Amino acid sequence: MSVLDVEALRAQFPALDQLVHGKPLVYLDNAATTQKAQAVLDALDGYYRGDCANVHRGVHTLSARAGERFEAVRETIRARLNATSTDGVIFTAGTTAAINLVADSFGRAFVRPGDEILVSGLEHHSNLVPWQLLCQRSGAVLRVAHADADGVVSTETFAAALSERTRLAAFTHVSNALGTLNPVAKWTALAHRAGARVLVDGAQAVAHLGVDLQAIDCDFYAFSGHKVYGPTGIGALVGKPELLEQLPPWQGGGDMISHVGYECSEYNTLPWRLEAGTPHIAGAIGLGAALEFLGGLPLDELVAHEDRLLERACAELDAIPGVVRVGRAPRRVSVLSFVVDGAHPSDVATLLDLEGVAVRSGHHCAQPLLERLGLPGTVRASFSLYNTEAEVERLAAALRKALRLLGVG
Ligand code: PLP
Repeated sequence: MSVLDVEALRAQFPALDQLVHGKPLVYLDNAATTQKAQAVLDALDGYYRGDCANVHRGVHTLSARAGERFEAVRETIRARLNATSTDGVIFTAGTTAAINLVADSFGRAFVRPGDEILVSGLEHHSNLVPWQLLCQRSGAVLRVAHADADGVVSTETFAAALSERTRLAAFTHVSNALGTLNPVAKWTALAHRAGARVLVDGAQAVAHLGVDLQAIDCDFYAFSGHKVYGPTGIGALVGKPELLEQLPPWQGGGDMISHVGYECSEYNTLPWRLEAGTPHIAGAIGLGAALEFLGGLPLDELVAHEDRLLERACAELDAIPGVVRVGRAPRRVSVLSFVVDGAHPSDVATLLDLEGVAVRSGHHCAQPLLERLGLPGTVRASFSLYNTEAEVERLAAALRKALRLLGVG
């Protein structure tokens, strides 16, 4: 496909074709999870129907076939993110598991009392709580580079929060609550100059941007399959192999060992050393199909399409009295957060659902950020490649109706 034909794309996502409360579904909760393309459903089905066997442990044909399909996905991920080597592609249950792996394993090897872990003020709980736990375990100190009222962490603020004690800086590529795009390559260079390692949370980036890990140069990058049109329960930690090599095993079990004795064991080489037990084989194969589907689309067109939707939605909502957008970073990706004067976000979201419009309300797992902004929560519409301008109009019309019913605005 050389240009983005959104109607043709929509036809590949079966779940979009349904009525909700008697109205055609407008799915705008893509930051929570994306819908799945037919190619992904076929890949899952194909594994379970035809190739279902455990990987790595069998010489029989089905196991070899499953193993080949599973292992091939590492290269799909490596290529999509322009990572240096498939040795650094570790399958995990998702972004949360990837961050916990680093917090636990890197933490045990490298973090000592008095060291500092730096996070940005825009983090999802998944990129905050694992570092709190690490600090509690290790005696390290958590530092925060806070966001301003627009939802921007300035590079000056980030740089000022670094110190010679910073062992690791962890920050999101794109904020799930406000859509802010962080200058991750610039921050990585600053953190490296201070002697710190860097983890970037890519959960909200991979579906919407071209991600070039060699350009960003971060040490660890985490993402989830289900936010990039793939299955739930699968994702990856993509790291620099020479650093992953130095991490002690995270979990023990099958596959992560090369020899086991009663006294001690020898560990496998990368990437398997950091993957214990039977992996989510179908999930990985489905994730591969999702990334191939995405890779078949023209990236510039996709980015331009999603930017257009976001811009149009901002303009529509700005024209509705009583609606206040939250998050005004100059470059935002996919996410539009807003509040309505005099109405609770969950009431607004419930009324939108009655119009078939699926959005999310609440703190979006970024409670400390919203508390600093003085908000209990927001309503969040988040866009994806299969959304249309007509759906943006449906959102605006449903919102006007909701405000009338609530007697506000
Ligand atoms: N980080 C960000 C920025 C997110 O948006 C999310 C999910 O919403 C996560 C981490 C956690 O992802 P998962 O629940 O797939 O592990």
